[in-house]
Amino acid sequence: MSLKISFLGAAREVTGSCHLLEVEGTRILLDCGMYQGGSERHERNRQPFAFDPTQIDYCLLSHAHIDHCGRLPLLKRAGFTGPVITTAATVELCQILLPDSAHIQEEDAHWKIKRLRKEGKDASWVQPLYTVAEAEEALTLFESVPYDQRVPLKNGLAVTFRDAGHILGSSIVDLELPSSRGIHRFVFTGDLGGTNARLLHDPSTVACPDALMMETTYGNRVRDTGEDVTQALEDIITATHARGGNVVIPSFAVGRTQELLARLNDLVEHDRVPSLPVYVDSPMAVAATKVFRRHDEAFSPEMHALIGAGDDPLTFPGLELTRSVDESKQINASTQPAVIISASGMCDAGRIKHHLVHNLGRRESTILFAGYQARATLGYRLQQGENHVRIFGEMHSVSARVRTLHGLSAHADREGLLNWFSALGGCPEHTFLVHGEEQASLDFQDTLRDRCGGQSLVPSLGEVVKLKW
Ligand SMILES: [Zn+2]
Repeated sequence: MSLKISFLGAAREVTGSCHLLEVEGTRILLDCGMYQGGSERHERNRQPFAFDPTQIDYCLLSHAHIDHCGRLPLLKRAGFTGPVITTAATVELCQILLPDSAHIQEEDAHWKIKRLRKEGKDASWVQPLYTVAEAEEALTLFESVPYDQRVPLKNGLAVTFRDAGHILGSSIVDLELPSSRGIHRFVFTGDLGGTNARLLHDPSTVACPDALMMETTYGNRVRDTGEDVTQALEDIITATHARGGNVVIPSFAVGRTQELLARLNDLVEHDRVPSLPVYVDSPMAVAATKVFRRHDEAFSPEMHALIGAGDDPLTFPGLELTRSVDESKQINASTQPAVIISASGMCDAGRIKHHLVHNLGRRESTILFAGYQARATLGYRLQQGENHVRIFGEMHSVSARVRTLHGLSAHADREGLLNWFSALGGCPEHTFLVHGEEQASLDFQDTLRDRCGGQSLVPSLGEVVKLKW
């Protein structure tokens, strides 16, 4: 039996996850993600696929992040007829995230057309990457499967999705490929979660496969800062409340927000913070939180213990989920100190910008970042301590305190990746390191070389590998 692997995205970089497996006439796409970060990468999303989408038998989707699923509407447009197989929670999160991604594409095109026309230039060529209607069409191809259930595919192949602990519904894709010498296993990790999450399971361990494709986002970084995130939240909220200010938390709508809520649930229900309103002001975060509530199968044992004791870890006294623009405006009309969680996580879009306008000039308020901010974002400038920032075209001076929680991340760090690899209990015959900046993948390859010799490869974009079993 021969297996041909084409690395078509997230190879020596972190976005655009997409790999093609060809096994004796069966063609399987692992993820179909969007390139993100910068206009050069954005343009790559428009290039035709390096394969014929009408000939793909299955797309196996690891999770709902846009850099893993964001090109599915283009795949559908190009003739792919499905199915996209993934977990039920991933289906429901994609129902929120794909139309949102399309909406952003439509808005971007709208503004570009407006700008070109203003400059007296031709704008007839401007098209959104895809439309909301096309995102909805792609969603009709989705089929959901439970974790740990073996799903037969054609030609004797089978797949099992295992919990990757990264975001709700995230999966390690465990494929069985039959050959004359028995079953061979190919495992794709998708993105692996850290072990410090409060809400979700640790990543599942799997038996050592014959071939492994592994993410290496933090392949050369040890992130354990020793920070107790819940304690840090308690200290910051208590101190800010005493000053009469708001704690404003820019947060990703899916994942980070719910992780924060689980920790706030602890603090509120154990009276570790003064009683105060906690607003989640993002329609997408509110919708995503509902999906989390429906899928507690992905929750950690601690969360199940809470639920067993009658507590909903995503609900507590004072929590208010706001949807409408009016509700959002009322938050800033109130003088009572509050915690305000709003998107986007890097402050470049969404309602968070209004909350920043209202709070940056207040010495008593705190802007609390829940993680890494990419360069050139408003979040990055604030995190770097800039005294003045531009929002909606106007300069605002920064008097509020700016803090960052470092201990919240949806990704395993180098130690986490290594621990997960060690738990395989052996060395796969072939290991492919993907989904990391080049140096992160290469450094992790060095780390693995000490354990397993020179059996791992860091593929380049477009590289093709053939395995014979
Ligand atoms: Zn991810």
